[in-house]
Amino acid sequence: MKQLDNITITKIKKEFLSEFAKVSTLEQIEELRLKYFGRKGIIKSLFKQLSDLPLEKRKFLGEQLNTISKELSSMIEEKRTQLNLQVQQQTDIKLTKLYRSLPGVSFLCGNLHPLQKVLNEIIYVFVSLGYKVEYGPEIESEDYNFTKLNIPEDHPARDMQDTLYLELPSERNNKMLLRTHTSPVQIRVLLANKPPIKIIAPGRVYRHDNVDASHLFNFHQVEGLVVDKGIKLSDLKGTLNYFIKSIFGSETVARFRQSYFPFTEPSLEVDIKCISCKGSGCALCKNSGYLEVLGCGMVHPEVLNNVGYGYEEYTGFAFGLGVERIAMLKYGITDMRLFFSNDLRFLKQF
Ligand SMILES: [Zn+2]
Repeated sequence: MKQLDNITITKIKKEFLSEFAKVSTLEQIEELRLKYFGRKGIIKSLFKQLSDLPLEKRKFLGEQLNTISKELSSMIEEKRTQLNLQVQQQTDIKLTKLYRSLPGVSFLCGNLHPLQKVLNEIIYVFVSLGYKVEYGPEIESEDYNFTKLNIPEDHPARDMQDTLYLELPSERNNKMLLRTHTSPVQIRVLLANKPPIKIIAPGRVYRHDNVDASHLFNFHQVEGLVVDKGIKLSDLKGTLNYFIKSIFGSETVARFRQSYFPFTEPSLEVDIKCISCKGSGCALCKNSGYLEVLGCGMVHPEVLNNVGYGYEEYTGFAFGLGVERIAMLKYGITDMRLFFSNDLRFLKQF
């Protein structure tokens, strides 16, 4: 143990300074701190000797010891801060270098389901033409789903083979069912509003169908309805021509073909020239050169009558399209079941 006196204090300081000058790491500065200020360190042991000294000497050496203790410990702390900063800067430089040389990290991003994508496009086209978007319930009454739409009692569509009836208490003596099309929204809108009416109604529909590449028991439709004074067949054709060119491209050729639906008169089906063979005939279009896209027509006077509109005063047109059908044609998908398979290999392509 070093004897506590004036000379020792000076000597210790000198030794400390020469050791301090060699310090270059955080480990070394900690070693130095322990050597001088640790529990059994040099400075500590000198302080312990103070109590054994006569008062006068104790006071004098005590002050000296205090001064040197403060000076050396603040040097240690300062050095430690400086070394910490250096280490931090070196780490930053290392990290920067690391990021620069690494290849980019690719993140797995979600995307919209192809059906939602196509539906959004369809809605966008009609909303840009001033249509309002309406929604109706999926559980519907037989009256709205069939009767008010002029579908006769004996029509095969009402058959149990096609319609999923529900065992629910009947409303207004009506059997309840899962709607087989979005057309009952026409009735709801006509009853709740006054012309001019200009709406589309997207939604799920249900059929009692066996599932195969072109049939599902649950799929999506978009209904369209325009009712006002002086609505003509040419308005219908102009609107749907614009729609088809917007969805399938401006070069797409549409064909209007006579058809039959109970709730429209006259009724038409719209085909487009086959996307695959451009009309010359292939497997996709079954050699017809055309692909069916949607059904439409002028609202049947009986339907307007059923909701209390005078059909001498008002006319209108309606159309209904399958969202799956449009998506299949647009993207060249041949199996409808893929939309509901949750297969990421399929879904990532859109
Ligand atoms: Zn074809």
